[in-house]
Amino acid sequence: MSTILTHIAIADGKIKRSSLEVLSHCKQLADQGGHSVEAVVVDSNASSFVEGIQKYGASKVYVVEDPIFKNHMNTPLLKALVKVMESANPSVFAFASTESTKDILGALAANQNAAVLPDVSSFELMDGGVKAKRPVMAAKIISNTQAKGDTVLVSVRSGSYDLAENETSAEVVNVDFCMEDSELQAILKEIISASGDTIDLNEAESIVAAGRGVKDEEGQKLISELAQVLNAGIGASRALTEAGIYDPSLQIGQTGKVVSPQLYIAVGISGAIQHVAGMANSKVIVAINKDPDAPIFEISDYGIVGDLYKVLPPFIEELKKIKN
Ligand SMILES: Cc1cc2nc3c(=O)[nH]c(=O)nc-3n(C[C@H](O)[C@H](O)[C@H](O)COP(=O)(O)OP(=O)(O)OC[C@H]3O[C@@H](n4cnc5c(N)ncnc54)[C@H](O)[C@@H]3O)c2cc1C
Repeated sequence: MSTILTHIAIADGKIKRSSLEVLSHCKQLADQGGHSVEAVVVDSNASSFVEGIQKYGASKVYVVEDPIFKNHMNTPLLKALVKVMESANPSVFAFASTESTKDILGALAANQNAAVLPDVSSFELMDGGVKAKRPVMAAKIISNTQAKGDTVLVSVRSGSYDLAENETSAEVVNVDFCMEDSELQAILKEIISASGDTIDLNEAESIVAAGRGVKDEEGQKLISELAQVLNAGIGASRALTEAGIYDPSLQIGQTGKVVSPQLYIAVGISGAIQHVAGMANSKVIVAINKDPDAPIFEISDYGIVGDLYKVLPPFIEELKKIKN
């Protein structure tokens, strides 16, 4: 029996849904193969998240708590994960593919002499390693890839798996951690939040995305109203971020964010391959476009052909009625 370890990421005082998706999948793999599934949480307030993690089936939760983890810094995080890996000795260490993961995965792999499969959309265990599917070339191709070794690190795109609750009374292991400031070669001076208090697109259950069809303030107001009634995050095509209408942090696509919400509503977006690369993994795609031949309809589950300025007001009204 080997151990599958899952990293539980915390952002804005909450467990990231994407890491619980990974834990749910790891639990399923562990049950199928007779392995154990364990989790690690590293945060300035780590112990407060144990209960939330126990709901998803880990048999052991490593807790590394220290004020230094208030904000992401790669050196302390790396040190904490190395320490936990030395105790847990996992054959697979799975992460949600977050910015923080991207920052440390290579260093952790080098430190542990481990194989690494970054940014996959699914993975399975195989004899002596892991096999995975990984979207490449702006998600035009899905590559089958595999890594063999005593330890394989894998990071998984958000939305790849469903949450599956599986309550356990996991053993909690508090890991001693200490790091002197003098050990830090880089310090964090300031965090500038680009998107203010808008919903994090990587974690959003629903996204309303605006494209060039949204031509003016009236259109942007309709987008906000639709997002508000659905409690959705707002995204945009590059046409609108380049025009300065939406913040660049809201751009979805090859050179923007890669998202996979349960519901993606593309409003006035043509469906260029570079945009599709960032949202094709969404569970249900709805497109509103006045051009019936717009490529976005090829990947949509539901399509509304029409002028967004005429389609959205009654659409929003109906949603409000359902909500009330
Ligand atoms: C290297 C590279 C990287 C790129 N990265 C990205 C990226 O990350 N993200 C991204 O989005 N793009 C990216 N692009 C740009 C991409 O190629 C497209 O130009 C862009 O996605 C087009 O945005 P759009 O669909 O909003 O605009 P358009 O292609 O202009 O489409 C507008 C759509 O709105 C419809 N429309 C117009 N008026 C209305 C109306 N009143 N009601 C309903 N529908 C209406 C039109 O029928 C049309 O289909 C990249 C390009 C390159 C070269």
